[in-house]
Amino acid sequence: MNCINHPTVAAVAQCADCSKGLCPDCANTYKLILCTPCYNQRKKADIINNTYRLVLYIVLFIVGYRLNFMASKGSPDTYILSGYIIMAILSGYVFVNNIIRWKMLVGTGVMWMIYYLFKLFLYAFVGFFTAPFTIGWTIFKLIRAIRK
Ligand SMILES: [Zn+2]
Ligand SMILES: [Zn+2]
Repeated sequence: MNCINHPTVAAVAQCADCSKGLCPDCANTYKLILCTPCYNQRKKADIINNTYRLVLYIVLFIVGYRLNFMASKGSPDTYILSGYIIMAILSGYVFVNNIIRWKMLVGTGVMWMIYYLFKLFLYAFVGFFTAPFTIGWTIFKLIRAIRK
C-alpha cells in the first residue's frame, strides 16, 4: 500500500478513521494519525458538538431564568439562581458521567424513580460547583477546534 497523497511513497501507517495508507510525512501531519479529509471531518464534528453543547447550556439557563422556580416569599427575585441550577444539571451530568460510569440495571418502578431523582439531585449538586469549569472547558475546546 502506498500513501494516498504520495502514490510513489510506501505507506507506513493507516488513517485511524478510513484506513487509507499514509507515508511518514503524512502520518505525522496531525497529532492523531489521520488523512486530511478525515481530520477535517473530525474538526467539523468537534465544532458542531461543542457549539451544540454551548447553545444547550444557554437554552437551559434561559428556561430556568424564566421559570424562576427557586423563588419564595422571602426572595422572589431568583431568576439568575434558577437559570444557573438548571444549567448546572447538564454540567453535572457531563461531569459525573465522564468520571463515574455507574448504572442501575434492575429495579422496581419505585426504585427507578428514586434512582432518577437521586441522579437529578446529584447532577444539580455536582453541577453547581463544576458548571464554570465544564462550560469554560467547552468554550476552550470549541476555540481549539476552530483554530487547529
Ligand atoms: Zn482518513
Ligand atoms: Zn504522503
